[in-house]
Amino acid sequence: MKGKIVLLGTSSAMPTVDRNNSGIYMKYKGEGFLFDCGEGTQRQIMKAGLSIYRIDKIFISHLHTDHTLGLPGLLETLDMHDKPRVDIYSIHGLQKVLGCVLNGVIYAPDIDINIHEFKPQDEIFTIFENKEYTVQSIGLNHVVDCIGFSFEEKPKRKFIKEKIKELELTDKDFIQLKNEGRIIKNGQVITKEEITYEEKGFKFTYIPDTYKTDNIIKLAKGSDILVIEATYIDEEDKAKEYGHLTLEYILEIYPQLECKQIILTHFSRRYKDTKPYIQKIKEKGYQNILIGKDFMEVKF
Ligand SMILES: [Zn+2]
Ligand SMILES: [Zn+2]
Repeated sequence: MKGKIVLLGTSSAMPTVDRNNSGIYMKYKGEGFLFDCGEGTQRQIMKAGLSIYRIDKIFISHLHTDHTLGLPGLLETLDMHDKPRVDIYSIHGLQKVLGCVLNGVIYAPDIDINIHEFKPQDEIFTIFENKEYTVQSIGLNHVVDCIGFSFEEKPKRKFIKEKIKELELTDKDFIQLKNEGRIIKNGQVITKEEITYEEKGFKFTYIPDTYKTDNIIKLAKGSDILVIEATYIDEEDKAKEYGHLTLEYILEIYPQLECKQIILTHFSRRYKDTKPYIQKIKEKGYQNILIGKDFMEVKF
């Protein structure tokens, strides 16, 4: 197991007794990633038995309060834990909002808060990259500027076992392959490409508040895990007015998404129980769409 995704909040707008506001924690090889940070998120992290201290990167999709109000408190806790630095990758405008809050209360943090702000774009753009993974984003179609996020491991070259056996490669051969990209075996030139294949890395996508847009498919296509907002079931008028998705639309674009696992979140308060969602998904016969619940976790 490389990590897990934990839903911290699955309610839209206001929290309910059973559902907190938006927040997703991703644990990946000792790193903690937080996607959105609604009110109460830090307590949800504690209740889920996850580490606040491990959070190095926070991603904020848009500035609505149900996605941001937990941030000042969380930053203060990180500061009290003597965390030296945190990076926040956010829609533009967060610096100003946080500045108002942090300067308006008596609070002088030592933690180095690095805010990287982005404007929505219609094509996929990279917001973070290192040797192991990339985090990409795209503009969505909400009532305010909003971006989605996609975390993807870089592909790895793996040896084709049968070929290795057939060629009886020695340790020396492997070193030469690594250094030169080719070897000569039994008078034949063998390249690395011939005896390896590219293994796709793990991909997680988060589609927060948005109305219909093709950009959802652009970003989410081929994800291992997709967490996507499904505020309404089929109330098209409301979805259009408030900039949200319906389950109906998600089912419509389902074949193009090509995702292994889809988890719905950000439910309207009107649905005290999610049976109508389950019913509609069942009618379509799709097995890999789950109804998100607070503290639901998916390992990968
Ligand atoms: Zn929201
Ligand atoms: Zn919103």
